[in-house]
Amino acid sequence: MFPTSTEKTTPPTSEASNWSAPSKFGQLAIEGGKPLREKMLPFGAPCFGDAEIQEVADTIRSGWISTGPKTKKFEEEFATYVQCKYAVALNSCTAGLHLSLIVSGIVPGDEVIVPPLTFGATANVVEHIGARPVFADIDPLTLCIDPKQIERAITPRTKAIIPVHYGGMPCAMNEIRAIADEHNLVVIEDAAHAIGAKYQGKMIGTLSALTNFSFYANKNLSTAEGGMVTTDDAELEAKLRVYHLHGLSRDAWKRYHTKEFSMSEVVVPGYKYNMTDIQASLGIHQLRKQEQFIARREEIAAFYDEAFSECAGLVRTVPRPHDGTSRHVLHLYVLLLDLARLSVNRNRVISALLAENIGVSMHFWPLHMHPYYREKYGYKPDDYPVARRVGESVLSLPLVPQMTKHDAQDVVDAVVKVVGTYRR
Ligand SMILES: *Cc1c(COP(=O)(O)O)cnc(C)c1O
Repeated sequence: MFPTSTEKTTPPTSEASNWSAPSKFGQLAIEGGKPLREKMLPFGAPCFGDAEIQEVADTIRSGWISTGPKTKKFEEEFATYVQCKYAVALNSCTAGLHLSLIVSGIVPGDEVIVPPLTFGATANVVEHIGARPVFADIDPLTLCIDPKQIERAITPRTKAIIPVHYGGMPCAMNEIRAIADEHNLVVIEDAAHAIGAKYQGKMIGTLSALTNFSFYANKNLSTAEGGMVTTDDAELEAKLRVYHLHGLSRDAWKRYHTKEFSMSEVVVPGYKYNMTDIQASLGIHQLRKQEQFIARREEIAAFYDEAFSECAGLVRTVPRPHDGTSRHVLHLYVLLLDLARLSVNRNRVISALLAENIGVSMHFWPLHMHPYYREKYGYKPDDYPVARRVGESVLSLPLVPQMTKHDAQDVVDAVVKVVGTYRR
């Protein structure tokens, strides 16, 4: 199985991870005690600097603020980073997933296999097409879609698979590719969490027909809102370009910057999914910082790993690839609570951590348990038991490059305080 154990680094040691002494932190803030931190440590705050601010100002002063030269530059630099042929910038990853289905020829009545442990967008776009999202449960170790479950979910109507690189962990792409080839399915990756991730030496963004990245406010690379689709297929790229801007034969930058007038014509009823040069201005500099960001995320994650390895029994962390050629980019650092050993549920643990001024979050409540999917398709929670178990016990800790070691220590202390107090 891939992966099987935690990548070992040499993190600083934590003195606070002692479950037997949560009392040294006093009463929980949620029960009237003093919060562990005075000020909130936000979850997933973006990491911008002067370079981004100056580039945005330059774009505004240039007089060209929507899709134009900065977007083109961002696309080119993105394609170079990911080592793919084409990158098309969009206003969201959701837009990219939607267009990916369209240019792959997915039509009403088709089935598309998705994991239940993901953000709503992954399945919602399938509904937008009039196709049916079919869930395949996740692997309990990696929290990514389980290839064996994909095989079980295939029917004669299955046309595509959307693997999600959960938290930045690359999915088992060799196995997924083999299944897709055998059944003639399109693979459209949801790499919203996975910019910079690698699978067996290859960059995520080069492995499948289409790969979609998100630049939402709290993603590893942020343009406030934004997304990118990558492909090596010229025909798919051409279709994406047409569909992403009203179905016009030529985009605005090209229309305005040629001497000779020529009309742009609607060739399909396309969408309004283009990125602006203001967004791209952020993206260009965020991209150049990615390797530094990832290195810093790895340091903080190693610190967490060390601290929580001493908390065995009450919380579990997710192992990362250890093959030396694959890379988890740590968009999320999640803890799985052992609920049998706690006197409260996960939501209470999150509330208690928030009261301590630690900005924790949760990814994700499984889609088959959301009202729309539950009611439309009649799912029961245990139809996807692994996703259910994870969905009920998972929480995400703050992990951003600008965090200090002191911040990370506060997170560990707060988890020890809260989980230690609620231990039974
Ligand atoms: C954030 C996210 C998306 C959607 O990204 P947007 O850019 O906000 O559209 C899709 N899938 C997953 C797994 C996400 O986390």
